[in-house]
Amino acid sequence: MVTFYNCFHGDCAFISDTITLPNGTPEQVKLYVDLGPARFHIPNPVPDADLLISHSDNDHCLGKASTLNPRRIFVPAFFMEMAIILHKLVTHHNLSIHKYPVLAHKFIPVDDGHPLVYAPNLKWDVFNPCRNLWMNWLPPQVSLISLKATLNNFLSSNHIDADVDALIELSKGAQAFYSDGVADVSEDELERFVLAVTYRIYQYANTRHGGLSISRAVSLFKCSEVNDYSIVFKFIDSNGKSFLFTGDAPCCVYTRNYTNKSVQSDVLKVPHHGSNTGFDMDHITQSTPPYSEVLNNINPKVMVVSHGDHKPGPPDVEVIRFLNNQQPNRLLLLTTDIVKNNGLNPSESYMGVQTPYTIHGINAEIR
Ligand SMILES: [Zn+2]
Repeated sequence: MVTFYNCFHGDCAFISDTITLPNGTPEQVKLYVDLGPARFHIPNPVPDADLLISHSDNDHCLGKASTLNPRRIFVPAFFMEMAIILHKLVTHHNLSIHKYPVLAHKFIPVDDGHPLVYAPNLKWDVFNPCRNLWMNWLPPQVSLISLKATLNNFLSSNHIDADVDALIELSKGAQAFYSDGVADVSEDELERFVLAVTYRIYQYANTRHGGLSISRAVSLFKCSEVNDYSIVFKFIDSNGKSFLFTGDAPCCVYTRNYTNKSVQSDVLKVPHHGSNTGFDMDHITQSTPPYSEVLNNINPKVMVVSHGDHKPGPPDVEVIRFLNNQQPNRLLLLTTDIVKNNGLNPSESYMGVQTPYTIHGINAEIR
C-alpha cells in the first residue's frame, strides 16, 4: 500500500507492505519517500520507518516528523547531495536524532549501479541517479594538460590560491565520507571527479551573462542540477503491483535504462509535480524521447501528481492537459485541486482528492 500525502508543493509518500525474505520470513517494509516541504507535518509518523530522500530540494526533505527515527536513510549517491541533505535534516530538526555522525552513519547511497545490495529486503529497482554521472561533464577530446591549464587559469583569475592538483589533494577528505566500504573511489576516479566538477563550475562561470564570479558559479552549480540527481526507483509490492517514483527528475536522465530495465509500472508518481521539465516538454532533443513515448513505456494505470496550489509553478498546463487526455484509460490523481489561473482554465474539472489518500495497487482505492 502506498499513501501519497497532500503536502502542499512537494512530495511525501509512505510505502507500507509485508514481503517475504528469501529465507521465508516475513519482513515489514515501512518507507517514507521524501518528507515534503517545511510547512508540512507528516500525520502520525511511523517512528521506525526507513527514509528515502529523492534529492536535496526543500520541498522533499524539510517536512516535519518529530518522532521519526529512521533505521536507514537512502540518499542519492553523489557526495554533494549527501552533504546538503545531511545539513538540511540536521538544521531543520526533522528527525529526533540530529547529530551529524549518527545521521551520516545511516546514509545509504543509492544509484543505478548498486540498487539491490543495500536494501536486500526491498523489492526495488533503481534507475537514477546514474553511477558517476560527473564522467559526462568532462569535455571530450581535450588533453589532460590543456584541461588543467584552462582550469588553473580560471582559478588564478578568480584569486583562488590553489591549482587543480591542490584541489585534488584537498578532496581526499571527501573520499572518506563517500567510501566507508560502500562505494570506494580510486585515486584516478577522484582526480577525474575533481576535474569534472571544476570544469562544470568553469562552464557555469563562463557561459552565462558573460562571466560570473566563482562563488555565484558554485551556488548555481549546487542548486541548478539537483533534480537530475533524484532517485528514480520502481517498487513492486507483495501483490505484484508496481510503483514508479521519480522525484523531480526529468525523464531524459533515466530513459537510458529503457534498453536493459523495464520502467513499466502500474502507478506513476508524475515527475516534478507535473512540471514541463519532468516530461522534458521544455527541452526535446533527438536523444530525448517525446513525452508520449515516455508515458507509453511506463504505461501506468494510475498517475499521481503531487503538487501545491495558489503559486506560480507546476503543475504546468501542457502536462495536465496531456495527462488528462489519457483518461479514462489512465486515472489521473492530483493531491489537491488545481484552481489557480496561471493559464489553466479554472472551469476545467480535475479530480480533487481528499487527503491523505491511499492507492491500493491498481485498484486506486482512495480514502
Ligand atoms: Zn520538488
